[in-house]
Amino acid sequence: MKAVKTHVGRCDTCGEPAAYAQLLAGGRSFRFCEQHAPLLVKKQADATNSSNEANSKK
Ligand SMILES: [Zn+2]
Repeated sequence: MKAVKTHVGRCDTCGEPAAYAQLLAGGRSFRFCEQHAPLLVKKQADATNSSNEANSKK
């Protein structure tokens, strides 16, 4: 499972602007706002985000 922070799209549950996206096989994705993002998605997105930042600082 891969998850990222996003500013694109809207939460699938409530329609608020999305804060997280969970990326699925086949190019599909789920989007979640801060409220509806599962904890695992938040953790995964934070990990993805910090590794991206580490790479961009080189
Ligand atoms: Zn929501």
